[in-house]
Amino acid sequence: MRGNRRIDTKPELRVRSLLHKRGLRFRKDLAIRLPGLRVCPDIVFTRRKVAIFIDGCFWHRCPQHGNRPRANTEYWSRKLAHNVDRDKRVTVALRAEGWTVIRIWEHVPPEEAAALIEAGVRSAQR
Ligand SMILES: [Zn+2]
Repeated sequence: MRGNRRIDTKPELRVRSLLHKRGLRFRKDLAIRLPGLRVCPDIVFTRRKVAIFIDGCFWHRCPQHGNRPRANTEYWSRKLAHNVDRDKRVTVALRAEGWTVIRIWEHVPPEEAAALIEAGVRSAQR
């Protein structure tokens, strides 16, 4: 079971390569230390302080595709609720430290995701 979001998934790879083509330079696998929390966004623009998360539809409960599994309902609903809570805490904590946070569902077409990210990075302060 590959529940770990740190593993490069296809949508992430596509988005990263499109960002490169758009001339954007970023870091991946960079841990950001916040008070009481260690965060690993999928893409990080350090100078402009923009953190991008590409959230898996299942793991992060996308409203369109985040169906609950039929087996072990109790286990999964607790686990997924925990993920969603953590996502919220991470977003709030990053914003409190001056970060711009952009969360994109993995079902968003990579071209569209790259355009959203570029717009976010260009409008971020600094
Ligand atoms: Zn989805």
